Amino acid sequence: MNSRVLVIFVDALGPCQLEAAGGFGGLPYRGQLRGFLGYSCGALPTLLTGAPPARHGRMCLFAQAPEGTGVLAPLSWLGLLPRVLHERSRLRRLAAWMLARQARLTGYVELYRVPPEAFRWLELPEREDLFAAERIGGCETFLSVARRAGLRVFAAPWQLPEEQRWAHTEAVLREQRPELAFAYATELDGALHRAGNDSAEARLAMRRISTRIARAAEAMRAGGGEVRTIVVGDHGMADIDRVVDPRGLLRRLHGVRAFVDSTMLRLWGDDRTLARARDVVEGEGLSGQWLDTGALEARQAPTHGDPYGRALFLLEQGSLFAPSFVGGAVRGMHGYDVGSSSALAAIASDTPIPESCHSLTDVAPWVRSLLGVSA
Ligand SMILES: [Zn+2]
Repeated sequence: MNSRVLVIFVDALGPCQLEAAGGFGGLPYRGQLRGFLGYSCGALPTLLTGAPPARHGRMCLFAQAPEGTGVLAPLSWLGLLPRVLHERSRLRRLAAWMLARQARLTGYVELYRVPPEAFRWLELPEREDLFAAERIGGCETFLSVARRAGLRVFAAPWQLPEEQRWAHTEAVLREQRPELAFAYATELDGALHRAGNDSAEARLAMRRISTRIARAAEAMRAGGGEVRTIVVGDHGMADIDRVVDPRGLLRRLHGVRAFVDSTMLRLWGDDRTLARARDVVEGEGLSGQWLDTGALEARQAPTHGDPYGRALFLLEQGSLFAPSFVGGAVRGMHGYDVGSSSALAAIASDTPIPESCHSLTDVAPWVRSLLGVSA
């Protein structure tokens, strides 16, 4: 007989964080999942579809687009304003909101500190609500497979503030008795970024999430039948011990198209340009490594059309670019190389975790098999 399944996604739940949270109460089975290069906007699609980033195409929030064709291009007018104005977060949020409305974007839209002149050649790969989308980059999610099979499916509205979202989730689980439910916790990621791993803020967030998981599992069981609960993260979190100001380096890279993410400097250009850029970057003596297209392919990163850079310089775990195009100095970060501890995601369940489940790509097939539906 098939089970009803409750999947609880906890952003930034790595093995260390799961241990610090005491395993979230009553979930006896625990494991760790190999993650991929990139950030949550790549890991979440992998978790939902079971496909690596090379297939669904998501890795970082901002990708490259041909000049003037991307959905962000109209925002280059922000560059006409003085920097003190256009860098204001209120103005940026308003511009993001207007863009989302006008271009009918239902995904996560945030402009951070991207320099206005870069909007001309940037694109937002995530244009749709990941939990409602039938496919992400052509790959079906386990939510859409279950809907297609006629199951009652609930996915938490990620747009709601944390508390409201959980209250709503609990009520729906009790009243609508979904056969597949996907709950969503974001506050641990925020707390770990702001305050780091060994912080009161992170411990408080863990305690709240622990309670919410227990309540959601109880609400789900009230619907009857066999219920399996899976708690899963997308990556962990590393404490920052070195902040690298990229501004001098960017000036020395003059003429090379570059995007500074929090842990990687992404670069575009022909072979000669990139060889010159590599000399400049490696001359800085930063701890990290140069990843060319071959190295990106080996990590199953999307390389077709070089959306996230034809090469990139990836910082060593514990280092952070700040100010980057996506933020300032923080205490915790993820987005390091695949072998680093913070690239691992945790998984916990009330059901034995299959031996075949050791990568983020293995969760979707497991969920589908518990539900008795196939892709
Ligand atoms: Zn994060």
